Amino acid sequence: MDVFEQVNNFIRWYRDLYGRTLYLENPLREGPREGEWMTTVARSGQVSTPLQQFKKEIENCMNCALGSSRTKFVFGSGNEQADLMFVGEAPGRDEDLQGVPFVGRAGQLLTRLLQSIQLNRSDVYIANILKCRPPNNRDPLPEEVEKCLPYLHRQIELVQPKLLVALGRVAGQNLLNTTESLKNLRRKIWQFQNTPLIITFHPAYILRYPNMMDAALEDMKFIRKHYQHYKA
Ligand code: URA
Repeated sequence: MDVFEQVNNFIRWYRDLYGRTLYLENPLREGPREGEWMTTVARSGQVSTPLQQFKKEIENCMNCALGSSRTKFVFGSGNEQADLMFVGEAPGRDEDLQGVPFVGRAGQLLTRLLQSIQLNRSDVYIANILKCRPPNNRDPLPEEVEKCLPYLHRQIELVQPKLLVALGRVAGQNLLNTTESLKNLRRKIWQFQNTPLIITFHPAYILRYPNMMDAALEDMKFIRKHYQHYKA
C-alpha cells in the first residue's frame, strides 16, 4: 500500500468513526507546524460547531462520582447534522479509553447493523445517556442519569434529528421515563419531545445472545423504513 492509499484509508476510517469534523488538540494555535497535516486539513474545514462548544462547556463535568473515575469524557460522535441519532447507555472500557462512543465490540456490531440498512457511521450521530463509564459496566444509577440526561437533551436539541433510536432497555426507559420492558418498547413509534423515537436491542445484548440477530436485523429494517419516511 502506498502512502496515498494509507492516508486515504485513515481518512475514511476517521470519518466513519468521528464524522466530518476533525478534532484538534489545540485548534486555536496559529499556523500548522511542519508535518502537521491533520491541522492543515482541519483548517480548510469547520473549526467550532455549537456541539463542539457545548462539549467544551461540559467535558470536565464532576456532577457525579463517575467524573473522578473516568479516563475520558465520552461526549458523542458522528454527523452533527444527522437526521438519525442513536442513543446508547453509557461508555464501556474501550469508549472510556478513547473518548468516543461505541468503538468496542458492541460498537463494531453497531457499525455492521447500520451497514445492513446501507448507512455508515458518518451518516448518523451517536451519543449515550451517561457520558462517563460506570465501574464494571454496571447499569447507570438514577442519580447519575438525573445529572447527565440534560446533556443528552441539549445534544438532541442541537442535532435536531428527524428520528431517534434508543439502543437497549436502559436508553429507551430513560428517554421515555418508563419502566416498560424492552419487549413492549420495540417496533413501535414513541415520541421524545416531538421527535419520533424507536427502541431496539443494545448491540451488546446481541453479542451475548447471537440468536437475537435476526430480530435485530428486522428492527433495523423497521428503523430504515421510518427513517426514510421522516427524513423525506
Ligand atoms: N455501550 C454503550 O451503551 N455505549 C457505548 O458507547 C459503548 C457501549
